[in-house]
Amino acid sequence: MKIPNTEIVQLIKDIQNNKSKKVVIIPHVNPDGDAIGSSMALLHFFSESNNVKVIAPSSFPEFLKWLPNANEVLDYKLNTTESDALIEEASLIIIADHNAADRSGDIEDAIAKSGAVKLMIDHHPEPSYPVDYQISCISVSSTAELVYNFISEINTSAFNVKIASAIYVGIMTDTGNFMHNVHPDTFKIVSDLMEYKIDRDYIYNQVFNNYSLGRMRLLGYALSDKMEVIESLGTAIISLNKEELERFNYQVGDTEGFVNMPLAIQGVNASILVMERDGEVKLSFRSKGDIAINTIAKKYFGGGGHKNAAGGVEKVLSADETVKKLEEILLDNKEILTNQL
Ligand code: 5GP
Ligand code: MN
Repeated sequence: MKIPNTEIVQLIKDIQNNKSKKVVIIPHVNPDGDAIGSSMALLHFFSESNNVKVIAPSSFPEFLKWLPNANEVLDYKLNTTESDALIEEASLIIIADHNAADRSGDIEDAIAKSGAVKLMIDHHPEPSYPVDYQISCISVSSTAELVYNFISEINTSAFNVKIASAIYVGIMTDTGNFMHNVHPDTFKIVSDLMEYKIDRDYIYNQVFNNYSLGRMRLLGYALSDKMEVIESLGTAIISLNKEELERFNYQVGDTEGFVNMPLAIQGVNASILVMERDGEVKLSFRSKGDIAINTIAKKYFGGGGHKNAAGGVEKVLSADETVKKLEEILLDNKEILTNQL
């Protein structure tokens, strides 16, 4: 548990005591449940006192759109002029669930130019974002946990069902519904969130039982036709190119969770999803135990993340070519992949 220092607490109290101060919250590019949940919780926390906006670098999945006020999140790509003005006028910019400037996507330059005080709240290793203040802690399940601690430290009575539900979404999604990265404090926080009468069944159904038919068929196709298991390396690769995604009417977020599936196979301890998106190839890496899969994401695909969950990008090759490159890389890194659990 990491609690914000007194200087940050004072800064936030000063902002909340001055209605003219504007706040902007930025989740990472291709935002996930933790990025959106954390941002929405912060939005509700500030909305009583200040003009506050969440500006996302790109669109976010349908299964998060039920969150209260999610329809007010600005997509930077579609509202660039309005967003740039808000970022310029802001007194405080909160960087949520990422710790490197390039993870703010196309918003990176506008943030760098703004004279706002910048606060980062994040749980990834090796922070490099040039900010004024940071709440950075890797021993928590999610950024949403840090947002819980942050709000608790400033004003416990600010919690309500909207804030609690948004924090719950962040924790639930980043832990794969409490399967990994969970600590004793995670459950203490969830226990407290339940006091605010969050509807856990409803939230679970909205987030996880919300497949379109196309998404479910895409999952079936990915597992039956597009999954390669390299038994000697205990590693699975799933690849999906643009044509295949279009065939199943792909929508943002549809492949969320696919990369975890091969880890349920006996003897598979690492899994990689390769998919074409927005003219480049995005890679998602997952592993079990001591296999530090983020080292491969970082070294070969300019990415990073946590030891067991990381991501990266291939900007030159196609999805099919990326798989070939990946197969060679994996062979060269047999020691990492077979590091026993
Ligand atoms: P996902 O596979 O769900 O997109 O991402 C898994 C984890 O890897 C997340 O915690 C995310 O922050 C990190 N990650 C994903 N893509 C990138 C990337 O391109 N660069 C970096 N540095 N981290 C990434
Ligand atoms: Mn996160």
